[in-house]
Amino acid sequence: MKFGAASFKRGKINEHYLKLEASYLFSDIAKRVAAFQKAHPGKELIKLGIGDVTRPLPEVCIQAFHRAVDEMAQAATFRGYGPEQGYEFLREKIARHDFQARGAQIGADEIFVSDGAKCDNGNIQEIFATDITVAIPDPVYPVYLDTNVMAGRTGAFVNGRYQGVVYLDATRANGFVPALPGTRADLVYLCFPNNPTGATIGRAQLKQWVDYARENRAILLYDAAYEVFIRDPSLPHTIYEIEGAREVAIEFRSFSKMAGFTGTRCAYSVVPKACTAYTAAGEPQPVHALWHRRHTTKFNGVSYPVQRAAEAVYSPEGGDQCRALADYYLRNAALIRREVTDLGYECIGGENSPYIWVDTRMDSWKFFDRLLEQAHVVCTPGVGFGRCGAGYVRISAFNDHEKVQQALERMRRTLKR
Ligand code: PLP
Repeated sequence: MKFGAASFKRGKINEHYLKLEASYLFSDIAKRVAAFQKAHPGKELIKLGIGDVTRPLPEVCIQAFHRAVDEMAQAATFRGYGPEQGYEFLREKIARHDFQARGAQIGADEIFVSDGAKCDNGNIQEIFATDITVAIPDPVYPVYLDTNVMAGRTGAFVNGRYQGVVYLDATRANGFVPALPGTRADLVYLCFPNNPTGATIGRAQLKQWVDYARENRAILLYDAAYEVFIRDPSLPHTIYEIEGAREVAIEFRSFSKMAGFTGTRCAYSVVPKACTAYTAAGEPQPVHALWHRRHTTKFNGVSYPVQRAAEAVYSPEGGDQCRALADYYLRNAALIRREVTDLGYECIGGENSPYIWVDTRMDSWKFFDRLLEQAHVVCTPGVGFGRCGAGYVRISAFNDHEKVQQALERMRRTLKR
């Protein structure tokens, strides 16, 4: 039966998706790389672009993985659906090692294990109203911005920016740590050590954000996916080291960079029970209950072998192996930083971070093309992360040591000319 045209709107879409910028940074890069390779089939490219790891999983994780797969092969030890929030054995170790050991009062029941910090960062916004104001850094890991566009929290994309968003500029002038906005925001995204700039935040600066959130009834969404690279003892590893953060902050962590899990998938979010947002009528509402509801309704848990592999990270050998893994990339980062500086470019990052943010003194894409065509090295144009990234490129330390050395030699030859 055919119903009237007025009452039947076929395939009506979420039109907020149409506001998204037409092209995605990494697909633009992929297109230029593919065109180069087609034109120069014999030339070997070295990729210091996308932030994916290259080294194998730590040995303890592999062993735990194998043992868990064997358990799944026996009726007596087989496991079906697990708890959506994650197995207690993993949540308990996360709470103890990543938080309590640092003096941060986080309990196992405040941890939500997931299959990625990307999903968590993207999904979290849906427990908040659509008419709130979001503050988002520029340059930025694009997930924070795009998921808010999709949800309808922004206006159109005009002159390189979405209307209605409070942009937090990270520039040379502020050491790439955004200043507090001169206006109220309900949700504030922060990421330290930062992707793409590699900047870190000190305790005093982070405290200012916590105070801002407390004074303005805002919630901080703190992405600490690169925490494993922190070596400077003065830097906070978690926002919950800061007094008062439990009431206003949600933190995101990932095993991707911590233990090479980008292809294995395991992460977690931390939502303290004291963290409070408000209804339109001003009634306080614990965010934990909302996220718990969302997580258990829409997610069915990370696989048992993956959670066992993640648990192994917290054994003494696991700790050593993860540290060695991060040190491997940090050694690359230090080399890149030194070489780029020697070549006369200003940069930040590369210390406590796998990313080096280089001021190219020219258009980001022009510099990208120059490195691609003359050095056969792929980097990431900073402008793809936001307007404040114009003139910068991000160089990633995620590659094998020999490849990084080779890339740096090629860059030296090209950029010294
Ligand atoms: N957060 C930041 C800042 C990232 O750069 C990335 C990945 O590059 C992620 C989150 C995604 O982490 P996951 O692999 O756990 O989804």
